[in-house]
Amino acid sequence: MENNAIRFACNGCGICCKGRLVPLTLGETRQWLQRGHEVAIILEAFDESTWALQPQQFAHAAGRAVEVTCGDAHVRVVAVFAGNALVQCQNLGDDGRCGIYEERPLVCRIYPMEINPFIALTPESKICPPEVWEEGEILFTDRIVDPVLADQVERSRQADRDDAQAKIALCEALGLNVAAWKGNAFAVYLPDRAKLVEAIGRYDTGTNAAIRPDWKVRVDTPALRQQLHQGGVALDDQLATDYIFHTL
Ligand code: SF4
Ligand code: SF4
Repeated sequence: MENNAIRFACNGCGICCKGRLVPLTLGETRQWLQRGHEVAIILEAFDESTWALQPQQFAHAAGRAVEVTCGDAHVRVVAVFAGNALVQCQNLGDDGRCGIYEERPLVCRIYPMEINPFIALTPESKICPPEVWEEGEILFTDRIVDPVLADQVERSRQADRDDAQAKIALCEALGLNVAAWKGNAFAVYLPDRAKLVEAIGRYDTGTNAAIRPDWKVRVDTPALRQQLHQGGVALDDQLATDYIFHTL
């Protein structure tokens, strides 16, 4: 087991706090907004008929998704709420340190581990500098070694499942109802912060209108469009949209 040990010692370089979106639980989203920061929402849809990965991966994806009506079909949609750190995280100080270290999100606590259990930990796939893998405590063998870290990883995965319905309900309340197809593209919304705060407030008090919109899927790849169309999936044909569409 020791032969497979991965050592890690974070050097606090802050590289992982720049150029990315920071996935948040719903509770962390509330705190992020209370600090005055922006939250992005990524919507992705999938179904069992086009699933190309392992069945266990489908079960994992389905556990953090909500089944919705989409034309004549039903698809599953995952809403990822994320702190906008596309330039750099708004909590990153001039000294390169996290300004909310004691209250930082779970995803920041667990990095370089991932919320997705199917992403293997390999140093070359991480943005950490090479030297941090050469010393420090053993992070991983065939499992996470530190019980505190293992608990944080499990809590982040559980929150993904627990928050799924609420996040989709918030998207529906905000009129965000076009998702990209998982593995094909990303659909990233940058909702107005005040409107998202309002929607969460109404959700928390149970006063959001019960909206169940017909969802749509944006796919620009002809073969996949044809396949989904034949399956009755409603496709979004808008050219101008309120989301950023990034084909993979
Ligand atoms: S919350 Fe802190 S640790 Fe997380 S990305 Fe922002 S600055 Fe980095
Ligand atoms: S990039 Fe890696 S080494 Fe640098 S602060 Fe983030 S986790 Fe630590």
